Amino acid sequence: MTNKVAIVTGGTRGIGRSISEALVKAGYKVAAFYHGNEEAAKQCETELGLKAYKVDVTDYDACAAACAAVEADLGPVAVLVNNAGITRDAVLHKMTAQQWHEVVNTNMTSLFNTCRAIVPGMRDRGFGRIVNISSINGQKGQFGQTNYSAAKAGMIGFTKALALENAAKGITVNAIAPGYIETDMTASMRQDVLDSIVRQIPAGRMGRCDEIAGLVAYLASDFAGFINGATIAANGGQYMS
Ligand code: NDP
Repeated sequence: MTNKVAIVTGGTRGIGRSISEALVKAGYKVAAFYHGNEEAAKQCETELGLKAYKVDVTDYDACAAACAAVEADLGPVAVLVNNAGITRDAVLHKMTAQQWHEVVNTNMTSLFNTCRAIVPGMRDRGFGRIVNISSINGQKGQFGQTNYSAAKAGMIGFTKALALENAAKGITVNAIAPGYIETDMTASMRQDVLDSIVRQIPAGRMGRCDEIAGLVAYLASDFAGFINGATIAANGGQYMS
């Protein structure tokens, strides 16, 4: 058991909630950032014993203030999990500028916003674990998702560059590329589209949130100290890069 502090963005629903739960179970004091779903945030505080912070991860100043608040409330941050993400699907020839910017800002620019606040302290302390939740669709592309595929691929480049910059300071930066996981995000997809995707998954099923959360807990642990700049796929065999 550890007594370290972890931030999980989008940490009160879906995959993020499961990541928060796994880190609480591993002994971390967890700060979960959320956007607007107060009910889910309160439920997590009660059921998991984490502390929820309402922060828009697209807002640079809000992220700086929230990260400072977490350090004042709980202590120095050892683990940062960038999990918050959205989709706004449309084929490019019909995509609005708003759909593009919302997706790129939430999934990718958010990494700059949180890491910029947290990495200097990790460097000073000589330890840190950063895990970025990318996507299979950032690896292979997906119809109707130029915005999301670009943002998720950008996260992988960001992960490698940040890993290079900080490896000598005891910090690891890795990405996870989940395949299709049962959450609100995938529940909002058309059933016939989901059915056709599941037919492409060799495992014959969608993934579970805890199958991503366990990997995050491992990457945060001491066992994973030599894994750096990696992108680990968890997709039931759907895409092998
Ligand atoms: P959900 O839609 O279930 O949850 C998204 C979470 O992100 C929520 O907690 C939400 O907060 C938070 N969030 C959204 N926008 C912001 C914002 N601007 N600021 C702060 N928090 C925000 O998503 P999933 O659990 O399905 O996905 C989690 C991550 O995994 C995402 O990055 C997604 O792209 C990625 N992923 C998901 C896959 C899947 O099949 N589900 C597959 C591959 C990758 P609130 O609750 O307040 O709305």
